[in-house]
Amino acid sequence: MKKDFQLPVKKPALIDLGRIDEVLEGIDLSQDPPEDEHLRQYYFIKKTRMLADSLKADRGRDLTFHVNTFGCQMNAKDSEKLSGVLKASGFTETEEEDADFVLFNTCTVRDNADQRVFGRLGRISHFKKANRDMKIGICGCMMQEASNVEKIKKSYPFVDLIFGTHNIYRFAEYLFQVMSEDRKVIQIWDKTDQVVEDLPSDRKFSFKAGVNISFGCNNFCTYCIVPYVRGRERSRDAREILQECERLVKDGVSEIMLLGQNVNSYGHDLEDGITFPELLEEAAHIEGLKRLRFMTPHPKDFSEELIQVIKRNPNVTRHIHLPLQSGSTRIIKKMNRHYTKDQYIALVRHIREEIPDAAITTDIIVGFPGETPEDVDDTIDVIRRAQFDNAFTFIYSIRRGTPAAGWEQVPEEEKKTQFGRVLKEVQESARRQSEKLQGKTMTGLVEEVNTQTQGYVTARLSNNMIVHVPGDASMIGSFYPIHLEECRGFYYFGTVCGDRC
Ligand code: SF4
Repeated sequence: MKKDFQLPVKKPALIDLGRIDEVLEGIDLSQDPPEDEHLRQYYFIKKTRMLADSLKADRGRDLTFHVNTFGCQMNAKDSEKLSGVLKASGFTETEEEDADFVLFNTCTVRDNADQRVFGRLGRISHFKKANRDMKIGICGCMMQEASNVEKIKKSYPFVDLIFGTHNIYRFAEYLFQVMSEDRKVIQIWDKTDQVVEDLPSDRKFSFKAGVNISFGCNNFCTYCIVPYVRGRERSRDAREILQECERLVKDGVSEIMLLGQNVNSYGHDLEDGITFPELLEEAAHIEGLKRLRFMTPHPKDFSEELIQVIKRNPNVTRHIHLPLQSGSTRIIKKMNRHYTKDQYIALVRHIREEIPDAAITTDIIVGFPGETPEDVDDTIDVIRRAQFDNAFTFIYSIRRGTPAAGWEQVPEEEKKTQFGRVLKEVQESARRQSEKLQGKTMTGLVEEVNTQTQGYVTARLSNNMIVHVPGDASMIGSFYPIHLEECRGFYYFGTVCGDRC
């Protein structure tokens, strides 16, 4: 790394649920809540835990919680922290929605996501009638839109806690308020300059983890609500990020994904001038870290420096997700994405020359306002020339509050027709790319037991491809050499052909 940049981090790490008792022991409840946001949240965790202990004694049973998560990987990561706070505060997780505390962590990227949340909220209201002590909370991106908050206040008055994305780190404090006082808590902030990450986290997987490196987005793509609900981009202190990664590796994690809405513009707002490639390189050198991923990069910020960091660090995974959205320069401009068709193709070609074993995947939107069949021809041309290894393809749907929502829309039938053309190209491209790996042996990380095929487990390769192999739960979290035998479109069936590696 070129910059003057040194570990360790400035403040103590407070994160592992396993160490929570030790951390809480140092918190003095006879004092006022601390000013420091991290310590302040642990102060309230300790208070809620004492309250939970007395409620458990009164009710003669555990207090349970259930977190419903909607949306992206960053929301999933936030939910690990929300669950971590609840567990640290004395609650026990349950799969059922009739828990003592039910929390909805919402997404608002698509209008129909909002409707799903309202539907689920309506369904759990009868649990509250049966259990008057039940508390219901709702947070996340949907709550940053005033109309949604108003609707909940009016139509779902049984909701006890509403908070947004900017103050999610205050959850422990709000939890204590709703548990200790019989009143609603509604806290929506317009913005924050705080990045508070070192809170208890209940990681879903023991062997892989996401690490937030930045929050919000400055790009204002004209179809996207994220900059409005997540705010402007804020990068997290690099020393804190690296220390969290080191701690995870010590804890047994072998694969880390660095997360940001526009991950490769990381650092633009930091005074020390550290860039994303520099951070990635530093993280790649963490001893014991076998795989390092990142999501989601923007093509306009995909620099030569970044390509070279990936190339020279074999533990940075051979998977580059490069959202195209449209292959038509005219539509890309209307989307406010800041690249042209030719620039995008040149970037893909260059990545393929420099890192030939990297899989390149993408996102494509079909039916953006004003899109013609000729624009879709351009998208198909890019799919053929880029030879994508896989793609998520979406039909454009209106997202209220974004500029594109007010523009003349493509008729639904036309969208479907064009979507079919794009999907066919994407599937053919994915199949062609996957078939190239037939007969090869590659390293896979076993992630889970395959629920569809008995006696099989599912592994993920560095290039993000899924392979199903005969095996059992004891293999989860370990790497194995896998012989790729039968291509099924964009995934494989194979066999383990060597020892754990
Ligand atoms: S880069 Fe564009 S699509 Fe991605 S979060 Fe930012 S505004 Fe949304």
